[in-house]
Amino acid sequence: MSDADLIIIGAGPAGMAAAAAAAQGGARVLLLEEQPRAGGQIFRNVGVNGGARRYLGTDYAAGAALVRALEHPSITAEFSATVWRIEAGPTVLWSRDGASQISRARHVLLAGGAQERPVPFPGWTLPGVMPAGAAQILMKTAGLLPRDAVLAGAGPLLYLIAAQLIDAGAPPKALVETQTPAMMARALPHLPRALLAAPTLVKGLGLLRKIRAAGVARYTGASGFRATATEDGGIAFSFAAKGRTHHLTTPLLLTHQGVVPATHMSRAAGIAQGWNAAQQAFQPQVDAWGRTDLPGLHVAGDGAGIGGAEAAQAAGRLAARDILHLSGRISQDARDQTSALDRVALRRAMAIRPFLDAAYAPLPEFRSPPDDTIVCRCEEVTAAQIRQSLRDGANGPRQVKTATRAGMGPCQGRMCDLTVLGILASCGIKPATTRIRSPLKPIALGELAALTPTQETSA
Ligand SMILES: Cc1cc2nc3c(=O)[nH]c(=O)nc-3n(C[C@H](O)[C@H](O)[C@H](O)COP(=O)(O)OP(=O)(O)OC[C@H]3O[C@@H](n4cnc5c(N)ncnc54)[C@H](O)[C@@H]3O)c2cc1C
Repeated sequence: MSDADLIIIGAGPAGMAAAAAAAQGGARVLLLEEQPRAGGQIFRNVGVNGGARRYLGTDYAAGAALVRALEHPSITAEFSATVWRIEAGPTVLWSRDGASQISRARHVLLAGGAQERPVPFPGWTLPGVMPAGAAQILMKTAGLLPRDAVLAGAGPLLYLIAAQLIDAGAPPKALVETQTPAMMARALPHLPRALLAAPTLVKGLGLLRKIRAAGVARYTGASGFRATATEDGGIAFSFAAKGRTHHLTTPLLLTHQGVVPATHMSRAAGIAQGWNAAQQAFQPQVDAWGRTDLPGLHVAGDGAGIGGAEAAQAAGRLAARDILHLSGRISQDARDQTSALDRVALRRAMAIRPFLDAAYAPLPEFRSPPDDTIVCRCEEVTAAQIRQSLRDGANGPRQVKTATRAGMGPCQGRMCDLTVLGILASCGIKPATTRIRSPLKPIALGELAALTPTQETSA
């Protein structure tokens, strides 16, 4: 048996804050992170970059304190450690360097974060078209800066990446935004509540000012995205805006339509999910402490519902204190009293979500794309094939998967399941989740064979 009290999966803001709080409360923590270093999406590589790569901003550099807090004698952090199965118990199976290990603890906190919402349109699978967040990962890990990139889509992260590129001396060629005046009008009633998160709004306005001052061409109300390859290996991007069709050429088209909870881990564990209509995505059902319907399993951070880095840290600490309480280390009163500030921080951070969800809602054409769009990249299944499967009698995501193989590739539907749901919704079929099977991430058969039932690791 492992002698960790708590296993945390994911060393982003939620997982790091939870690990520190749990260790300070006397728990022995095993932190498993598939990346080589702590940080998660927002603070990726911050321990190495520190104050260098200043274009990533002061918010980014601030993450170094969370990474330092992991240096605690009660925290064992394992990096390049990919969790591929969670069983009742709870038991966690994870892989590193081609060898798997089994770890057990009375409590497991899933802090696996978010993923970018796919942006499917004809041509989105071409080399030279990639998610904007993926380009930002390359900026954070390798210092790679895209030149003359076109940023297209919607959401605060698109503005942040545009501003980071400007500060890095590689301003984007153009910003093509899909939000419409009607979306902004729908968002306005949520503005008074969003003022609770005034510093975030102010930061957002600052990003827009920077983009304007840099003279980046901006198109709004854009739709009808199409990309084709040019002879010199670039991308010809066309879209409609304000009644005209525009054509841009670029070496790199970076797309984005917001982020959604990464639910594969919680779905594979069997945690009940609920549909978030405002975000058009599933998320695990958790209570105010991150407890799920399964004993021993908590979820915190963006993986439980999108809230951003400050909300993730607060939620991580709340879950950690609940686990300290459940394991008899602190009383319920102590849990509640020490959590008051985090509750306020969480409420403030979440106050802006309804405004953002309405203002930067994904376009219907991305939820249910044109027939000639590849929806499942792994199995190369088009929107037309999915619609045909519905005409042939499929009436839910499982039947579509069986009929077309959409979602059966190595990414297990991460890049297509929301689009399949969007196409189903356009035909009046309500969203339903599918169970995710282990392994969560691909592992070699030999690794499975080498795993003996007695093989365990301790923190
Ligand atoms: C691509 C991308 C870029 C983003 N960039 C920014 C940004 O610059 N600024 C900003 O404010 N917000 C950004 N966000 C939003 C950001 O994710 C959240 O605000 C915040 O990081 C959420 O924190 P978290 O701890 O919940 O999750 P994350 O920070 O995502 O951390 C989750 C961690 O879990 C690990 N993990 C996941 N699955 C496994 C597994 N099976 N085994 C082991 N480890 C696993 C991941 O490697 C990751 O380190 C970005 C989101 C995405 C998807």
